[in-house]
Amino acid sequence: MNYSHAFHAGNFADVLKHVVLTRLVEYLKKKDTAFRVIDTHAGIGRYDLGGAIAKRSPEWKDGIGRLLDAQLPNKAAPLVAPYLEVIRSLNPDGGVKTYPGSPLLVRQLLRPQDRLSALELHPEYAKKLSGLFEGDVQVRVNHLDGWLALNAHVPPKEKRGLVLVDPPFEERGEFDRLLDGLAKAHGKFATGVYALWYPLKDTRAVHDFISALRDMGIPKMLRAEVSVRPASNPPKLHGSGMIIVNPPYVLESELRILLPALALLLGDPGAGRHKLEWLAGE
Ligand code: SAM
Repeated sequence: MNYSHAFHAGNFADVLKHVVLTRLVEYLKKKDTAFRVIDTHAGIGRYDLGGAIAKRSPEWKDGIGRLLDAQLPNKAAPLVAPYLEVIRSLNPDGGVKTYPGSPLLVRQLLRPQDRLSALELHPEYAKKLSGLFEGDVQVRVNHLDGWLALNAHVPPKEKRGLVLVDPPFEERGEFDRLLDGLAKAHGKFATGVYALWYPLKDTRAVHDFISALRDMGIPKMLRAEVSVRPASNPPKLHGSGMIIVNPPYVLESELRILLPALALLLGDPGAGRHKLEWLAGE
């Protein structure tokens, strides 16, 4: 377990993931009843973009750095506003020195009745994450294997919920674990909203993953991708995707506005592309 998200916090892939995550949480808030967000691979929750690691690897400059300064098209701006509001609230002096990882972003968006369960396997990261939410009764941090918890923690007792699965993709077999994890969790909690992150790097692996998803028999599955440059050989991360199971009905139309705007903004000049398709309908 050598992966450190600090090198990548706020990059183009985080922007897509966190914008989609924000849209999903905002939608869940439209009903008064409580919900729970389960973040299976949570990281440390807060990243110092002015620190040594981010200085060595300033990926955030081509991610949140671009978005913060951008004039987005009229229809896209209100859709990213809740995400940017969280970032602005964490950086009252302007700019973005502090970047929220998924658990902190979610926490900032929750209402008093909502809950967050965050799982992190790396002992030091789990400790940092626990420290971040110490005394917060709405958040439970578990130093646990997210893949096991994905099965064990669903359905949440609130019966309404969103499960974010964001593995590091450093070990072989992560695509298979995603498929297996989704199948098991969906079997127990079919009405949950699921958001799965995956890298656009190994074209064959993505192709096989998408085919396997289509064959799973799970209804209502949306695929959203943004690539910032063409695929290369040898393969390098050139974009990222999210699979959203049981998306709120407005998400497709929101993503039709957001994805092209993000591809234009985050992509190399003239090279940004997006994809939005249903892998399975009703
Ligand atoms: N979701 C975070 C965000 O958006 O800010 C980033 C998470 S990062 C991509 C993946 C995290 O998963 C790392 O912090 C890593 O230590 C952790 N991890 C790796 N294997 C895990 C496992 N089996 N269960 C839980 N966490 C794991």
